[in-house]
Amino acid sequence: MRIRFWGTRGSIPVALTSADIRDKLAQALVQASGRTFDSYEEAHAYATSELDFSLTHTFGGHTPCVELDLDSDEYFVCDMGSGARPFGVHVLAKQARRPATVNVFQSHVHWDHIMGFPFFGPAYVPGTKIRIHGCHDVLEQAYRLQQAAPCFPVDFAQLAATIEFVKLEPDKPHDVSGLTVIPHLQLHSGDSYGYRFQHNGKSVIYSTDSEHKLEDRAEAEGFANFFRNADVVIFDAMYALAEAISVKADWGHSSNIVGVELCQMARARHLVLFHHEPANDDMTLDSLLKEARRFEELTRSDHPLKVSASYDGLEIEL
Ligand SMILES: [Zn+2]
Ligand SMILES: [Zn+2]
Repeated sequence: MRIRFWGTRGSIPVALTSADIRDKLAQALVQASGRTFDSYEEAHAYATSELDFSLTHTFGGHTPCVELDLDSDEYFVCDMGSGARPFGVHVLAKQARRPATVNVFQSHVHWDHIMGFPFFGPAYVPGTKIRIHGCHDVLEQAYRLQQAAPCFPVDFAQLAATIEFVKLEPDKPHDVSGLTVIPHLQLHSGDSYGYRFQHNGKSVIYSTDSEHKLEDRAEAEGFANFFRNADVVIFDAMYALAEAISVKADWGHSSNIVGVELCQMARARHLVLFHHEPANDDMTLDSLLKEARRFEELTRSDHPLKVSASYDGLEIEL
């Protein structure tokens, strides 16, 4: 299985500004000072292997959209945030005019998690099948509403694809075209659901827009069981711990440190910080990642946990 991150930012898409790009460029020039490059390829190889990560990358621009590639004829994707637009471009290129079958798993219907669907190219291709899975009764209503006049020029009913809404029951395993899926209720305004995916002996958790009250042991143990021995946990780490327990308590999101604690309890292998706060720049996100890695080192027992921060374009092979 391969995980592809098409959108990793929370709440609203963000883009680097011209000032951000100039700043990265100036820092890169300082770091490369004294070196010469004979070709674009040589410079590219230097940038890839030697420049700091923060100078050659940016964390999430698009809102949530994460693909699970099972090397099958069908597509599997969590949420349709604005990352659904480049994901759609990828699907169309790969299909080369053959209609696709796309399975969507919807965490919840807040706008940042559905806003990419009107720009999802395959929805406009006749013969395409799109099945949108979720636990909310309002799933279909939300999808139709965001494309209703006067807010969008193409009504949902005009889309060429065959679109089906499939209601899933929480805490039960479901088989979706060979992928085992278990949804789990999470604490968030209007409820959200995390998903545990299992395929060929590998397990991936997609748990976004979820607040945790670790002082409630039953709640913490419930999530530790849901995350149990997972290979990868994609986790809502919108805030730093201090924010999450003070000013932003009850805002429905979690932190980098809570992610480490839950993954340690669950003996998961790899924590991926996700749903980045739109106000945080790359430097701040990098420091949140370093803080989480440091906390993991200090609290590590016999089970090391790898910690990464997601960015648009990240791929993880399992
Ligand atoms: Zn969100
Ligand atoms: Zn939300």
